[in-house]
Amino acid sequence: MSKIAFISGASSGIGAACAEIFAKNGIDLIIAARRMGRLLELKERCEEKYRVEILPIKLDVTDRKAVFDSFSGLPEKWSNIDILINNAGLSKGLEKIQDGKIDNWEKMIDTNIKGLLYVTKAVLPEMIKRNSGTVVNIASIAGHETYPGGNVYCATKAAVLQLSKAIRMDVLGSDVRVISIDPGMVETEFSLVRFDNDEQRAKQVYENIEPLRAEDIAEAVWFAVSRPKHVTIEDMVIMPTQQASTMLNIKKL
Ligand code: NAP
Repeated sequence: MSKIAFISGASSGIGAACAEIFAKNGIDLIIAARRMGRLLELKERCEEKYRVEILPIKLDVTDRKAVFDSFSGLPEKWSNIDILINNAGLSKGLEKIQDGKIDNWEKMIDTNIKGLLYVTKAVLPEMIKRNSGTVVNIASIAGHETYPGGNVYCATKAAVLQLSKAIRMDVLGSDVRVISIDPGMVETEFSLVRFDNDEQRAKQVYENIEPLRAEDIAEAVWFAVSRPKHVTIEDMVIMPTQQASTMLNIKKL
């Protein structure tokens, strides 16, 4: 029987690239995000190309009730999730704390921390019961080190790093694995979302530097997940070669 992966935030960027590589490797997928149209396109493309089954779910991970209802309402075929990829996340704004917008802070905390916790709580107990499963949390270099204006976003990603460590301790004694993948700069819709759809400003982030592609991260996720079950890649930090820290890249030399 084919394995099943659940990917949050599969409508774009890293999540969509993970869907593609997992489908290519014969994994059936539950793909979730708020933009259902994008998910339907991804389903159509990957089902035809890779002959896997894909279930798209319209889900806002910040909606606690919707998260638990979605998982409890899954058809029997989809109820045993082998791989959970907690990828849904965002940054909003780049203001100093003293100038920060509280709505933006709450959106980042609700999505990057609370959303990840709700989804994990909905999936992890069954994995532990079955003594099998892999959780991948997409954290960030921003969880290891901060940068000016990164304040709340960096704090949420530091929380994700700590949660991965904590969950690894909590599941010890079972064969459940917890993996953290921490990218540096990846060109996705991330900056467009951060800068409220200001295309010009988003484009500038990736000018004169070769950033990572979403596929680079998806390949690392697949590598980590496809290790034998006695091997856990705890934490993988992946940077563009032209970036040496959150603050230092070739543009700033
Ligand atoms: P992206 O292209 O903007 O993708 C973000 C995904 O998250 C979208 O599919 C979006 O889908 C989903 N999402 C956002 N809020 C959601 C919500 N409330 N409920 C459900 N889904 C939600 O950005 P990305 O770069 O691929 O980001 C993916 C992850 O990588 C994030 O956790 C981000 O923090 C992390 N990361 C990114 C970078 C980078 O430089 N790009 C670096 C390090 C870490 P909908 O809008 O359709 O809901």
